[in-house]
Amino acid sequence: MPTAPIIVWFRQDLRLSDHRALKQAASADRPVLPVYILDDESPGDWRPGGASRWWLHHSLKSLADALADKGGTLVLRRGRSDEELARLIEETGAAGLYWTRGYEPHAQELEKKLHREFGERLEVKRFGGALLFEPEAIETGAGEPFKVFTPFWKACLREPEPPEPRPRPGKLDFYAKKIRSDKLDDWDLLPTRPDWSGGLEETWTPGENGAHRRLRDFLNRVEDYGEDRDRPGIAGTSGLSPHLHHGEISPRQVWHTLRRTAAGDRAAAKGVEAYLRELGWREFCYHLLHHWPGIPRQPFRDGFGNFPWRSDPRGLKAWQRGRTGFPIVDAGMRELWHTGWMHNRVRMIVASFLVKHLLIRWQRGEEWFWDTLVDADLANNACGWQWVAGCGADAAPYFRIFNPMLQGKKFDPDGAYVRRWVPELESLPDKHLHEPWSAPAEELKKAGVELGKTYPEPIVDHAAARQRALAALKESKQG
Ligand code: FAD
Repeated sequence: MPTAPIIVWFRQDLRLSDHRALKQAASADRPVLPVYILDDESPGDWRPGGASRWWLHHSLKSLADALADKGGTLVLRRGRSDEELARLIEETGAAGLYWTRGYEPHAQELEKKLHREFGERLEVKRFGGALLFEPEAIETGAGEPFKVFTPFWKACLREPEPPEPRPRPGKLDFYAKKIRSDKLDDWDLLPTRPDWSGGLEETWTPGENGAHRRLRDFLNRVEDYGEDRDRPGIAGTSGLSPHLHHGEISPRQVWHTLRRTAAGDRAAAKGVEAYLRELGWREFCYHLLHHWPGIPRQPFRDGFGNFPWRSDPRGLKAWQRGRTGFPIVDAGMRELWHTGWMHNRVRMIVASFLVKHLLIRWQRGEEWFWDTLVDADLANNACGWQWVAGCGADAAPYFRIFNPMLQGKKFDPDGAYVRRWVPELESLPDKHLHEPWSAPAEELKKAGVELGKTYPEPIVDHAAARQRALAALKESKQG
């Protein structure tokens, strides 16, 4: 076998199975050199936040262990990806450089640069695998990108089914010469003082095995997904988002596993259809990011340029800490802080509260989520915030302002979610749980709640905040 290796450059594809770049490298009759580069420079403001770094540490450890089981080493380098790859090519005389395609604007720019710089000297190849459908393959009849979800998803479903996932490569021949690698622990990806990661540890098992375990577990519940997915007090959703974001499982693996389940179990078929539609939202967000790379910062729709956003550091802090006095909002923000994840319904409620009740720019919320979510994802996060703020493609209109009390009563009717995350309200009867200020003094006393002391008074009056938001919208339209 020739000694010049093929570098397999891992990024958000931290798995061995259904990994086309790795599979292709394994069958190329050359040694394989698996590499991960911690590049905090190329993504600019969008380098991984705190919770993502925690995840990354554990996921890289899991990938390195899986490669070690096959006799290999994951080489770790830190620095600008293009510079580190150039060094590695120089050091090893690599014959090839393979990777899984990325869709973030900085990733796309980098990939073009690598093709330009190395394309003539070695075999430079990128492979799909992070999405079910490539964003440029799905077009309207007029050959334009889609701006509305339902026709987008219909067009996806008219495409040939995504290819079957591929198993892990059986045997891998690794590059044998010793080459310099950083130590994962030296990267300080884990928090130290204070160490806020206890809740993350309790909740998650990063890595490929953890991802597949979660999928298997979800298969037992998929039948009820359609009904339970909007109930934050029930484990009704899959919790696969951080695994999908870090590429520990591919959407094709999820797709085909679910399709097989639906084929063998008619009761599950409806849940599977609803679930695949949510995966479709992920595809749609990536489609939007690919065609409109400015969406992480810029409103997708015009008309928000003059919006009278407020600067409200105290409001922002109360929101971040889960101390707004609105139980469903506080429960969500505390779940996020503790576990690095928040239920989708509650993401919508807390986002609406920030943008509409507090009139704080959606980008401030997007940044907080970026730092605290283990599934922080440039496409999905930008898309989610713009959807709620009313400036996104196919977004909820701005004037639709969530009422946090009604949302709480509707989607957390028995209060299981609020009681879990806001235990100081645990003993309040259901009737008052989502609006403790409406409880008579003796009920509050009996439940051990003292508003303003054991639990905050609401930081805004709902009706007044609603009127203010609508007035702001009117003003921005006139401006
Ligand atoms: P499930 O219900 O099990 O859904 C399966 C998969 O479909 C998810 O893992 C996810 O990959 C995808 N998905 C589901 N809903 C959406 C959606 N609305 N948009 C895009 N993809 C979706 N998702 C992220 O992955 N990263 C983010 O940074 C992110 N930020 C968000 C910010 C806001 C303000 C909002 C409203 C939503 C955001 N979402 C984000 C989307 C959604 O809330 C999460 O994907 C979902 O809660 C993840 O939980 P799950 O895996 O149990 O979802």
